Amino acid sequence: MNSAEIRDKFLKFFESKGHTVVRSSSLVPGNDPTLLFTNSGMVQFKDVFLGTDKRNYVRATSVQRCLRAGGKHNDLENVGYTARHHTFFEMLGNWSFGDYFKHDSLVWAWELLTKVYGLPAEKLWATVYETDDEAYDIWHKVIGLPKERIVRIGDNKGAPYASDNFWQMADTGPCGPCSEIFYDHGPDVWGGPPGSPEQDGDRYIEIWNNVFMQFDRQIDPKTGEYTLTPLPAPCVDTGMGLERLAAILQHVHSNYEIDLFQSLIKAAARETNVSDLANNSLKVIADHIRATSFLIVDGVIPGNEGRGYVLRRIIRRALRHGHKLGQTKPFFYKLVKDLVAEMGAAYPELPEAASRVEQVLKQEEERFGETLEHGMKILEAALAKNATKLDGETAFTLYDTFGFPLDLTADICRERNVELDETGFATAMERQKSTARAAGKFKMAAGIEYSGDKTKFVGYDSLAQQSKVVALYVDG
Ligand code: ATP
Ligand code: MG
Ligand code: MG
Ligand code: MG
Repeated sequence: MNSAEIRDKFLKFFESKGHTVVRSSSLVPGNDPTLLFTNSGMVQFKDVFLGTDKRNYVRATSVQRCLRAGGKHNDLENVGYTARHHTFFEMLGNWSFGDYFKHDSLVWAWELLTKVYGLPAEKLWATVYETDDEAYDIWHKVIGLPKERIVRIGDNKGAPYASDNFWQMADTGPCGPCSEIFYDHGPDVWGGPPGSPEQDGDRYIEIWNNVFMQFDRQIDPKTGEYTLTPLPAPCVDTGMGLERLAAILQHVHSNYEIDLFQSLIKAAARETNVSDLANNSLKVIADHIRATSFLIVDGVIPGNEGRGYVLRRIIRRALRHGHKLGQTKPFFYKLVKDLVAEMGAAYPELPEAASRVEQVLKQEEERFGETLEHGMKILEAALAKNATKLDGETAFTLYDTFGFPLDLTADICRERNVELDETGFATAMERQKSTARAAGKFKMAAGIEYSGDKTKFVGYDSLAQQSKVVALYVDG
């Protein structure tokens, strides 16, 4: 079953259950300036859940383009390292706005997976929130899933955002338990069942999250404690990764082996003259052409701050992987036509914007091409002197003079098992900043806000966060 059929079957199934099919919204959230990118299907419905927006339907379904390369969700560092994470991916979702709840949500999920998509029931596992007996009973008594394959998972003692199987929109507001469905790819792949210490492997892969918005979380003004009040009309929000489902249906283990990715990987191999299709850099390039093209489709342009800087970082990472494969000329933009062939039918906005996308990518390639070449020489020279640790000064020079985002340098270091001196980088950055401040000429960038002598990180890059990358010196 190819990607197009998978999308189609999903939407048709939920349409037959009274859902209105809603189109994917943009990767740039229209209703939420605090969110960098649309990272799940529910983003376009956020105000409906909050009660500030009304729709003329109470059930909806969509295939949403999502990006997890910044902000609360960041999978950029996983790309090329796991079989299941992309920066850009498609989320199949269904929603109930105060209409059906846990029973229908789980029973339909099961019906769709086992009857429509024909997944073998014995390979499916479910997790529920530790105290959610209602969901547990639906799995066991109604659906008939054996107890051995239902796992209760608790939260991280109320830590906001970090909890498992308890979802919250934000620190306050709608929240509730969730129930996730996992697929067991079998003993040939390393990993343990959900809830076990080895869950992070790629054997048991999470495919579908069913969130039950059941409570309103608020702070009691008297005690300062959080309170959970049942919502008058509980809601359902679900999301399933299309690529992960496709991998199962196409009898492959990794997302990168599905039809759609194989075409892009072949195209990347063609443009870089590589014959080994299993080369990891090809996967990264295939992932990044999707993310960067759709960002440009949705109006983002490469720049030095905010969304534009995330886009630039993803493009530059892709170009560095091309360089690693021996490609020193612009090549990345040439993959746009292959992407259009794969995804243009599902996303008509892509072919419409294709020539603009090519132009923007090509320009960025021309711009970075030369400094990439020079920067790599400097990096190699530093590593020839010290093969175990890259000093912060060099990392900073690469960043400041050659346009290597820190995460790009870190990616190279990780590949080669070299430690990156992030503290040294931060020190060099700080020195630059004070010089600039003394000269009265500097501008904040890269996800940073500066006010007086307080610098607040508002960005999206855990690495940058760790090293307290604080300012980008702009004009001399
Ligand atoms: P994981 O634990 O594997 O990182 P998640 O718990 O972060 O996934 P959710 O936020 O629950 O994912 O999103 C719902 C579904 O979207 C997941 O069950 C998965 O199928 C899919 N998904 C999430 N992140 C990615 C990604 N980076 N690439 C591809 N699919 C993803
Ligand atoms: Mg995740
Ligand atoms: Mg998960
Ligand atoms: Mg999940």
